[in-house]
Amino acid sequence: MRKFNLKNSTTANVASMSGYVPGEQPSTRAWVKLNTNEFPYPPSPKVRSAIISEIGADASKLRLYPDPLSSSLRRALEKRFGLPTGFGFAANGSDDVLNLAVRAFTDSQKSAVSLDPSYSLYSVLAKIQNTKFIEIPFKRGMEIPFDDVISSGANLLFFTNPNAPTGIGFPIEAVERFAKNFNGIVLVDEAYSPFSAFTAAPLVKKYDNLIVVGTSSKGWGLAGMRIGWALANPKIIDILDRVRDSYNLDRLAQVAGIAALDDEAYYAKMRVKIISEREACQTFFDSLSWPYFKSSSNFILFTPRDAGGKSGPKVAANFFGYLRSRKILLRYFPREKSINMSLRISIGTHVQMEKFKKAAKAWLKEG
Ligand SMILES: *Cc1c(COP(=O)(O)O)cnc(C)c1O
Repeated sequence: MRKFNLKNSTTANVASMSGYVPGEQPSTRAWVKLNTNEFPYPPSPKVRSAIISEIGADASKLRLYPDPLSSSLRRALEKRFGLPTGFGFAANGSDDVLNLAVRAFTDSQKSAVSLDPSYSLYSVLAKIQNTKFIEIPFKRGMEIPFDDVISSGANLLFFTNPNAPTGIGFPIEAVERFAKNFNGIVLVDEAYSPFSAFTAAPLVKKYDNLIVVGTSSKGWGLAGMRIGWALANPKIIDILDRVRDSYNLDRLAQVAGIAALDDEAYYAKMRVKIISEREACQTFFDSLSWPYFKSSSNFILFTPRDAGGKSGPKVAANFFGYLRSRKILLRYFPREKSINMSLRISIGTHVQMEKFKKAAKAWLKEG
């Protein structure tokens, strides 16, 4: 007799875990969608042309496997970030790169570490791999506890810069301090660096333990294409190449990524608009005396206060629900204790941001 029990047949760590919960992706376009930090403008028009040209008259190129190495995209990344040949690597979104790093650099002996709060996918990826995951809280005022991280004994450090979900940007010296002193791989997750003043990309020439991870999802308007990358010493790239799927980026994604990286003028213009809306939104929060973290990203983590000046998880949930009922979608993290009195707003177009501000004022009036 067959004795099959799915739970017993699943690895113990996977059987006991829950998957990562991404932000809601509503199926209609009626929403003011400010919940997953997407770019509020279309990608460069060059992206559209590149995709159409790759499809061609009869789409026959789609019969053929894509370049397994995404070589042209790697060269475009190296050019964009001023790095020598061999330092670029492309993957199916930066989440894919994070997963590859966990697979290549951690196991039941080699642990991973990150600061808390930061991107909650890291711990999920570690769990899948049966990797011990150490979370070290930020110090008061969101200062980095360098010594605690460096002495954690972990082999892989995830450093989100600018941080998610706070949006705080740390200077390059912080990355350098980790790269110099951490006894393992330092992975800097730069999903939001297009909205800050800095990238640690040039440092990968200097530090052989540093991986700078980026994505076209937030800063290049291509979340729907799934194009992420790693920049690192060629010896690290070689390790990532061993672990990745052989065809990890499809044809259309490869040409779209190249076209996007080639149109810096367009993106520079759009990012100026986003940053100016971000600053205006922070001024708006100041006018209401709502606390927030000064953001170097395309989102702001803020703490709503009701008409009586009260804040807390209930107030946050109430404001979130109020906005939701008006088809304005923000991100709320009810299960994350350090931030469950706050909401995260992605910076949208001027029209979207004005709708949000109007709704916030109406909520205060009604409350
Ligand atoms: C959005 C995000 C990612 C994932 O980006 P994809 O390239 O879309 O997979 C990775 N890290 C952080 C901190 C993010 O916010």
